[in-house]
Amino acid sequence: MAKILVVDDEAQVRGMLAKMLSVEHHEVIEAENGVQGCKKYREHQPDLLITDLVMPEKNGIDMIMELKKEFPSIRVVAISGGGGITGSFDYLPVAKLVGALHILQKPFTLQALKSAVVEALRAPGLH
Ligand SMILES: [Mg+2]
Repeated sequence: MAKILVVDDEAQVRGMLAKMLSVEHHEVIEAENGVQGCKKYREHQPDLLITDLVMPEKNGIDMIMELKKEFPSIRVVAISGGGGITGSFDYLPVAKLVGALHILQKPFTLQALKSAVVEALRAPGLH
């Protein structure tokens, strides 16, 4: 069991992730944007951060960079809608550059999420 912080501005996505992760017996903490995400990360110091990238207040990339300065061994899995469908910029490769261990394109399968979580939790902290 791990403590996992889920950050996404869509309540529906957070709920779905929380459900998927609690089935795996993880403890889930939720936040709705990067500002809240930073606050809750500091407060709970979770084993893993799963975050959306496009969010109001503070986006996922800025949140990852800010937290990485304070917690160099932070483990991150980034999820995003990507650029294809909406024509908006694809932030997932950027998430990888700022230190995300795994990136998942929405919509993803339960199996893809499970393996990303297992691998991320197994990864040594990046120092
Ligand atoms: Mg979003």
